[in-house]
Amino acid sequence: RSRIFSGMQPTSDSLQLGNYLGALTQWVALQDEHDAIYCVVDLHALTVNPDPAVLRDRTRRTAAQFLAAGVDPARSILFVQSHVPEHAELAWLLSCQTGFGEAGRMTQFKDKSSKQGSEGTTVGLFTYPVLMAADILLYDTNLVPVGEDQRQHLELSRDLAQRLNQRFGPGTAVVPDPHIVKATAKIYDLQDPTSKMSKSAESPNGLIELLDDPKVVAKRIRSAVTDAEREIRFDPAAKPGISNLLTIYSALTGRPVDAIVADYDGKGYGDLKKDLAEVVVGFLAPFQERVHGYLADPASLDEVLADGADRAQALAAPTLERLYDRFGLLRRR
Ligand code: ATP
Ligand code: MG
Repeated sequence: RSRIFSGMQPTSDSLQLGNYLGALTQWVALQDEHDAIYCVVDLHALTVNPDPAVLRDRTRRTAAQFLAAGVDPARSILFVQSHVPEHAELAWLLSCQTGFGEAGRMTQFKDKSSKQGSEGTTVGLFTYPVLMAADILLYDTNLVPVGEDQRQHLELSRDLAQRLNQRFGPGTAVVPDPHIVKATAKIYDLQDPTSKMSKSAESPNGLIELLDDPKVVAKRIRSAVTDAEREIRFDPAAKPGISNLLTIYSALTGRPVDAIVADYDGKGYGDLKKDLAEVVVGFLAPFQERVHGYLADPASLDEVLADGADRAQALAAPTLERLYDRFGLLRRR
């Protein structure tokens, strides 16, 4: 069985639909056939300096959303990154193997830092991809289910693994492969259908947040930016707005995009939006109910996370020991 690792940042009260369709549904699908490890990456969230009380609350809420989506702690390991300090320790080793220029080429850093200015940008945001590589290599991960936006970071993780094997001998690290499902790899912002939907977007108007009031969700879908034509067809280059709505529709109903396009022959954008709003709200209602069930019992939730941390650490500690040894650090007697 191959090993899977993936994580999400607790950077918002609610995950957004792109997190769910791009990654979380894959997590759930993969957990039967693989040894899966899923993580609330709270150390990553520190890169944007969250309020401490808010971060704590969002960490539990993110875990509750993983569970509500179907991550099963009986089959998968579910835990909080900072509960396993080996992540931060390995990140230091890897940061000493990462070129400054190499890290500087990461487009997510360029995008996020350009919005915050150089004084508002932390060094942690710069080294974020190195911590992500540590998350992955710490578990000798084979496969990483993520959205398209993480492809470049995954490439860095692969380069680092290969570098370790060259410098410190074969078997030092496992080279991970990305698992990116093309159809849903990039869900776009409803107001700006050429940029990806993100939980920490400046304006929430283009987001479908999993924990939003259904009325708000329906309104955001109805006001999604489209184009001046009338024809409903799937053409991401010419019609990014409509194509994004069709992608979401198809992913949530399991019906092929072509079949949906055929259904709307002769109908208008308003019809598509109205029906899609119903589909999304129909999906969200039971999901939200499950999330609130988990949040109503924080003690049980914390127990699931504590058990996950124990199981994760049992895997992480020997890997870190192996790497400390290969790097030539004198081990304590
Ligand atoms: P932030 O704005 O804080 O970076 P985010 O929405 O990008 O939040 P992350 O926690 O960074 O969420 O990423 C979690 C997972 O969701 C990753 O696997 C990422 O690739 C995936 N993902 C994020 N946004 C999208 C999207 N719009 N479409 C598909 N997958 C996405
Ligand atoms: Mg992100």
